[in-house]
Amino acid sequence: MVGIVIVSHSHELAIGVCELARQMAGGQPIPIIPAGGTDEGEIGTSLEKVSQALETAFAQAEDVLVLADLGSAVMVTQMAREFLPPERHAHVYLSNAPLVEGAIAAVVAAAGGGDLASVRQAAEGAQNIPKIPSEEPPAETEEPVSVPTDEPPLPTASVEVQVINPTGLHARPAALFVRTAMRFHSRITVQNVTHRRPPANAKSMMDVASRGTAMQGETIRIVAQGEDAAEAVAALRQLVTEGFGEISTPMPPPPSSTPEPDIGPATPPERALPSQLQGIPASEGIAIAPAFPYRPFQPTIERRTVADVEAEIARLHTALRQAQQELSAIQEEVAAHDEDVARIFEFQRMLLEDQAVVSTIEEEIRRSAINAEVAVERAIGAWVSRFAELDETMQLRAADVQDVGRRLIRVLMGHEEQAPLSDISEPVIVVAQDLTPSDTARLDRTKVAGLCTAMGGTTSHVAILARMWGLPAVVGAGDAVLRIPAGTPLVIDGQSGHIEIAPPARVIRAYQRQAERQARCQVEALRHAAEPATTPDGRTVEVVANVGDVASAQEALRQGAEGIGLLRTEFLYLDRPALPTEEEQVAVYRAIAQVMGERPVIVRTLDIGGDKPLPSVPRPAEANPALGVRAIRLSRQHPDLLRVQLRAILQAGVGRNLKVMFPLVATMEELEWAFSILRAAEEELRAADVSHVGRESIEVGIMIETPAAAMMADVLASAVDFFSIGSNDLTQYTLACDRGNERLGALFDPLDPAVLRLISRTIQAAHAANKWVGVCGEMAGQRLAIPILLGMGLDEFSMTPAVIPAAKALIRALDTAQARRIADHVLTLPTADEVRQYVTAELDRLEA
Ligand code: PEP
Ligand code: MG
Repeated sequence: MVGIVIVSHSHELAIGVCELARQMAGGQPIPIIPAGGTDEGEIGTSLEKVSQALETAFAQAEDVLVLADLGSAVMVTQMAREFLPPERHAHVYLSNAPLVEGAIAAVVAAAGGGDLASVRQAAEGAQNIPKIPSEEPPAETEEPVSVPTDEPPLPTASVEVQVINPTGLHARPAALFVRTAMRFHSRITVQNVTHRRPPANAKSMMDVASRGTAMQGETIRIVAQGEDAAEAVAALRQLVTEGFGEISTPMPPPPSSTPEPDIGPATPPERALPSQLQGIPASEGIAIAPAFPYRPFQPTIERRTVADVEAEIARLHTALRQAQQELSAIQEEVAAHDEDVARIFEFQRMLLEDQAVVSTIEEEIRRSAINAEVAVERAIGAWVSRFAELDETMQLRAADVQDVGRRLIRVLMGHEEQAPLSDISEPVIVVAQDLTPSDTARLDRTKVAGLCTAMGGTTSHVAILARMWGLPAVVGAGDAVLRIPAGTPLVIDGQSGHIEIAPPARVIRAYQRQAERQARCQVEALRHAAEPATTPDGRTVEVVANVGDVASAQEALRQGAEGIGLLRTEFLYLDRPALPTEEEQVAVYRAIAQVMGERPVIVRTLDIGGDKPLPSVPRPAEANPALGVRAIRLSRQHPDLLRVQLRAILQAGVGRNLKVMFPLVATMEELEWAFSILRAAEEELRAADVSHVGRESIEVGIMIETPAAAMMADVLASAVDFFSIGSNDLTQYTLACDRGNERLGALFDPLDPAVLRLISRTIQAAHAANKWVGVCGEMAGQRLAIPILLGMGLDEFSMTPAVIPAAKALIRALDTAQARRIADHVLTLPTADEVRQYVTAELDRLEA
C-alpha cells in the first residue's frame, strides 16, 4: 500500500487537504498524514513533524508519496527523508504534484491498489506544470530586516556564471546539468540572471528546459542549499565554465587552404530567382558551395476512433520505447564523429520519459478514444504552444518537443527513418524550410559547407548547432530560398546574412579573401588577449570585466581583463535566509581583490529589489518593480544594508585597488545620502580603530542608468570620481522597455539614437569635470557599439570575460579619428537600424 504525507506551511491547510483527500479514498484505509506548520503550530515547517508523519505512514504502508506546498516544505521533507534508514529511501517519493489536486489524484490511485510509481504518476498528472522550483514570493508585509542569526542555517552555496557554450543551457547541456544536480542531496536551483527569470529546479528536466534555460553569453545563477551545497555548486559551475564539454570547433579553414569547391559553371536556376537574398545572420563564416535542397518527411495523420483504449495506450508505449531506442541509436551514430553533439538526443529521450508528457498523451487517448498518432499530435501541440507562447528562447524548447513528437508519430505510423544527405558526396550548402534538431545534428559535417533556411531565427536549433560547429549559417531568408534548384552555386555570409545565388567568379573570389581575413582575425585576437587595447594612433583604453564571484574573476584574468569594472555583489545576498555578515563580505571582497592583484576592482553596492527577491529583506509586492524600490532606493529604505557593506569594502580595500560604485542613482539627493552613509561607515571604523581605507584614498563613482542621471551628469560629475554607464538599464528606462520582456526584443536596443545621445552627453559631462567614464552594460563588448563608444571618448569598457579578446582586437584596429567620425555620424541618424547599417558598413570597410 502507498501512504501519503501532506507537508504544508499551515497546520490547518495540511489537515484540510488530508480530510478532502480521504473523502476520495472510497473507504479504503489509505494512510493520509498531515505535517503542517511549526512545532508551535505557527506558519512554517517542522523537521520533527515531517519525520513523525513519515514514521506514521510507514507504520501502515510500504511506500510513501509526499506532497509539499512551497520552498522550505520541500527542503524539510528532503531532510526528513535523509534521516530515515537508508533502506527506506527508495520507498519515499517527494512529488512535484500540486498539493490539493495531487493529493486527491494520489489517494484515488492508492485506493485503487496502485504502486508508488502509479500513485505518483496520478498525482503529477493532475497538473503538468512542475511546482517545486516555484518558490513563493516573500510575504507581502513590511518587516524589519533580518539580522544574522547564531543558528547555523543549512549551508548554502551559489555562483553566477556565464554560459559560454554555443548551444547554451538547453537540450544536451540541460540534460547533463540535471543529471549532475541529481547526484547531490542539496536543493538546487538555476536562474537566468540576464533575463531575470525565476529560479528553476535544477533537478527537473522540464523546469530547467523551460524556465532555467539560457543562451550562450547569458548569465545563470546556481544556488544550492544542503550539506553538499558547496560540492554541488562546484560541480555544476565546472560543467558550465567548461562549456559542458562542447567542442569549440575553430572556424572552417579559409577556402584557399581547402580544395576550392567544385561549383562548376554558373548554371542559371530553372525559374527566375533573385541573384541575392538577405536572411538573418545565424553563424559567422562564409560558405561557398552548391545548394542542396532538403525536404524532410511530413506525415499525413488520420483520425481513428479506437474501441480498446488500453490496447492503444499499450501501442503508444511500444512506440515510445522504439523512439527512445532510435534516439539512443542516433546518439551512438553521431557520437562516432561528434560525441558532444550526440548527447543532444539525450534531452529528447528524456522528454519521452517525462511522465508529464506521457500522461498527457495517455489522457488524450482515454478522453477522446482516439488513435495514438492524433493524441500525440494534440498533446505535443499543446506543449509546443505552451513553450512557444513564452518567448523566443522558449521556442527552442518548442522545436525540441515538436521534433520528438514527429519522431513518435512516424514510429506509430510504421515509417522508417531516413538519414539526411546520405546520398551526396561533396560539400553542399543545405537549403531547407527549417531543420529540426534531429535533421541538423545528423548532418554529416564533412558534407556540409553551410546551412541556409527559409524560417528560423538566431535562437533556432539550426543556428545554435551551426555556431557550435563553426558552420556558416543564414536563417529566416524567406521562401525564395526554397526555389533554389539543387546544384546552384551559392555563397552565404553568416555574418551579414547575405546570400549570393549563382554569383560570378569575381564575387566568389572576393568572398574567399574575406573568409581568409576572418579566420586570421579570430586566431590573432586570442593570441593578443593579454596585451593592452591601444588604438593605432596610441590611445589606450581600459578593458575590464563584469564578474559576480571569485571564480569569474579568475576567468576574467584568463581572458585578458585589466581589472573588474563591475563586481555584482548581489550573489552574496540572494537565496539565503539571513544577510551576509560584515566579516563574510570583507573576506569575499578581499579574495576577489587578491585574484586581481593591483588591478582595479569596482565594487557595486547592492543592486537588488524590483524583481530580484531578497529573502532576508521581505518587501511588499510592487505594481512596477523596475520603477520601484531597487538598488540605491532599497539601501535608502534599509540604510544598515549599505552601511555594513561599505564598512566591509573600506576594510577589504586596505592595500588593494578597490573602488565603490552606487547603482541606479537618479538624483543628487540620493548621491548625497549615499556619501553620508559612506562617511558614517568610515567614522565608525576609525572610532573602533579598525584598519580601513579612507574616503580620500578610495575612488567613488555612480552608475548612470537612468535618463535623469544622464541629463544631470554635469552636476553629478562634480561629486564623484567616475561614472560607469549601465547601458542595460539606461536602455530600459530611456525606451520605457522592460529589459526582461523578450516580446519587446527589437525595441530594447542600446544602439537606439536616444540611448546613444544620452551616453554621449554623459561622457562629455564627465570629461568636462575631469572624471573618467566607463560602460559596464552589455553593449561595452558588442562589435557594433565599440567603435561608437571609442569615438565618443569612453575611457573604460567593462564586459563579460568571454568577449574581451575580440573587443581588444577591434579597439586595436580603430583609429581615434575614424572612431570619432563614426560616433559623430551616428548621433545624426534617426533610427537604431540605420546606426547598425552604418557601423556595419564602416567595419566592413575597415576589415576589407
Ligand atoms: C546595467 O544596467 O547596464 C548594468 C550593468 O547593471 P545590471 O545589468 O546588473 O542591472
Ligand atoms: Mg543595472
